[in-house]
Amino acid sequence: MTAGTTLPDAPTTTVDVEEDASRPLQAVPKSRARARFEQLMLATFIVVPLLAVLASGVVLWGYGLHWRDVVIAVAFYWVTGHGITVGFHRYFTHGSFKAGRGTRVALAVAGSMAIEGPVTRWVADHRRHHAYSDRDGDPHSPWRYGTSTGALAKGLWHAHVGWLFDVEQTDQQRFAPDLLADRDVHRVNKLFWLCALVSLALPAVVGGVWGGLAGDGWLASAATAFFWGSLVRIAVLHHVTWSINSICHAVGERPFQTRDRSANVWPLAIISMGESWHNLHHADPTAARHGVDRFQVDTSARVIWGLERLGLATDVRWPKPERLDARRVAR
Ligand SMILES: [Zn+2]
Ligand SMILES: [Zn+2]
Repeated sequence: MTAGTTLPDAPTTTVDVEEDASRPLQAVPKSRARARFEQLMLATFIVVPLLAVLASGVVLWGYGLHWRDVVIAVAFYWVTGHGITVGFHRYFTHGSFKAGRGTRVALAVAGSMAIEGPVTRWVADHRRHHAYSDRDGDPHSPWRYGTSTGALAKGLWHAHVGWLFDVEQTDQQRFAPDLLADRDVHRVNKLFWLCALVSLALPAVVGGVWGGLAGDGWLASAATAFFWGSLVRIAVLHHVTWSINSICHAVGERPFQTRDRSANVWPLAIISMGESWHNLHHADPTAARHGVDRFQVDTSARVIWGLERLGLATDVRWPKPERLDARRVAR
């Protein structure tokens, strides 16, 4: 898209994009060999960086990586990751449940600490993605350049990270007027830089104090906690979030009818906190649970369930069996 391009008509602030059965699906690669090759490329793309991180962990274990760093990194990943999945995505974008003021602000802050941009911008981009998924106007479709192997490779890069560099920004007035009108959200937006700073600094502070008390030296402990708990944790979470836009619109299972190429990708379920059940999500965008079938791990749904039990989330839109059945692909 170039600056000034007019978007095709679509619902504006909709949080429940209805099906349009009349619209044909995008063409898919026809050759099996080519599809396998593309899957292999994708698998390499997912696995190699993760192996590199794991390998550096093994090499550095004992002096450049302590089990304390792992605990800190996982804890911050869990909190900021669910800030995105439960907060930015299921709550602010899709209204899967209702929450009081305190919970609303806490979710906005936790999501901002993932450093994926301020909440209003994130929500506007994502609502636009649902309004135009895999069509002109979608900010990040891997099918943007076509369906040949080369076009898909280029499209995957665009959907994964390239789109973030687009000069054109999503119109927040059109896609997120509710959040623009919310004074609390506005304040968290303004303090995004502080959330980012805390997210970077807090793991180092925790690691430094913890390591100092344990007699491991506060400075060295703070440094390794910063590397693993701040830098590596943020990088991994960014790639996992972006993988939902790239990989989960390119390959995987499609048990539900949608008007796009969204797919369920089980290897990403745990690390994406349930967001990789992306085909169901596009079939039923407001549902609070995305992993609706047996053994489909969805920790974000668990968190929402916990918030509901604590009285912090109400009117939760749990998936309804009849709604799901109506959207299942006939076998
Ligand atoms: Zn999607
Ligand atoms: Zn969504």
